[in-house]
Amino acid sequence: MTVPAPKLLIGGAFQDAAGGERIPVLDPSTGEPLAELARGRAADIDAAVKAAKQALDGPWGRMTATERGRVLTKIAEGILSRATDLAILEARDVGKPHAQAKADALACARYFEFYGGAADKVHGDTIPYQAGYQVMTWYEPHGVTGHIVPWNYPMQIIGRSVGAALAMGNACVVKPGEDASLTALMIGKIALEAGLPEGALNIVTGYGEEAGAPLASHPDVAHVSFTGSVLVGQKVQEMAARNVVPVTLELGGKSPQLVFADADLEAALPFLVRASVQNAGQTCSAGSRILIERPIWDEVVSALVERFSALTVGPALDDPDVGPIVNARQRDRVKGFIARAEAGGAAVLARGRVLDDAPSGGFYVAPALFGPVDADAELARDEIFGPVLSLIPFEGEEEAVRIANGTEYGLVAGVWTRDGGRQLRMAKRLRAGQVFVNNYGAGGGVELPFGGVGKSGHGREKGFEALYGFAQLKTVAVKYE
Ligand code: NAD
Repeated sequence: MTVPAPKLLIGGAFQDAAGGERIPVLDPSTGEPLAELARGRAADIDAAVKAAKQALDGPWGRMTATERGRVLTKIAEGILSRATDLAILEARDVGKPHAQAKADALACARYFEFYGGAADKVHGDTIPYQAGYQVMTWYEPHGVTGHIVPWNYPMQIIGRSVGAALAMGNACVVKPGEDASLTALMIGKIALEAGLPEGALNIVTGYGEEAGAPLASHPDVAHVSFTGSVLVGQKVQEMAARNVVPVTLELGGKSPQLVFADADLEAALPFLVRASVQNAGQTCSAGSRILIERPIWDEVVSALVERFSALTVGPALDDPDVGPIVNARQRDRVKGFIARAEAGGAAVLARGRVLDDAPSGGFYVAPALFGPVDADAELARDEIFGPVLSLIPFEGEEEAVRIANGTEYGLVAGVWTRDGGRQLRMAKRLRAGQVFVNNYGAGGGVELPFGGVGKSGHGREKGFEALYGFAQLKTVAVKYE
């Protein structure tokens, strides 16, 4: 495995941070040093934004949509050919089990492939108007787009937001999460090798306050795509508001899965477990609340206890069910939720098992299954971002909807029932950006628009829909008579 050098990608060249400072990177599976990152600050963000502006005036800005699409397709091929290296690097950097990291690399390639194919298929309209006028609408890039990325799915999030922004002809400045920048740097290198003109994609590693805030508030950034926590999302929206530029906010969630008494439990059970512990529960769309209709409570609980108790936790490269938490601070935060719930009398139904040979310095948390959890309890309301699952009983559709919609989030919801009418009633009434019926996540398809309501954010990424977010509409009226 080659670890990228601690450099920033600015204007097509890898270079040191202006201040020459660095950030240490630890391997969460061992707690040992893995690499260093360049510690970018405002001066580096400024240089990256300037390079992006130059790219818009240079070869990148002059490319046709078809040419842009071809470059993106080549980036996809480059990522595919390095998918194993990317997966190993990601597993070491963020502690994601290897198979899940490989799936992220493949999804990242698929985003570039999808947006490469879509680049020349976005077109405006002609509008019937008064005699003597020809009126058209065109989609144009915003200009320089800022992309602030969290640590939990760096490859997927870079693929979805940078892929769509480049397809529409923007030039990007990316600030990856400080705990997850290594694959971002590798993707930057792959993009250059694929022929992406210099300055079209710039990557500035560093801390949120030091590099993220200068990016969100930079007066020459015309659109900000932020994925992360609600608290930081609010700050980013305020910063962007001062420059009156649009923001896409992809924030957290506390997503419910509703299991009705007529559900196909054999089909549901693997999803009920996986949706809550995938990536050690560090997933915005984690199905972290399971609402169970009372007649099948005992049956579902005993099946989940069996599956949760069998979960193994260990080093990412060993491909356990659950890897470590990304850093010690998050691990302590997750343990805090578990300890407070236990102290408050919540029943722990099952715990997974940290493997005996897992390195003692790694940031491990054994998955915890709680139930019955009060719908108003901290466990059932707050995004824990760890392998903690809360089971909540309900009686009938009304109560299910009230509990499911009872948090301030609204990212994803899952419904398990064989009743066709109920499937649609629930899909209509659940407050979420995506509703999955008799599945959860639909395999994460890049084609499916994604985003939240309420505190889960606004704007949509993924799918064709995202392209419109990375463009602005111009109306052109020509008087010809
Ligand atoms: P975070 O908000 O702490 O950090 C996200 C990014 O913002 C990082 O790059 C960070 O350096 C940067 N940042 C921090 N402070 C900043 C500031 N003041 N100004 C500008 N940038 C700043 O989030 P995290 O802990 O990295 O990620 C976890 C959160 O992300 C969870 O809430 C999760 O639900 C959410 N998330 C949402 C989605 C989605 O698509 N909806 C996807 C993944 C993660």
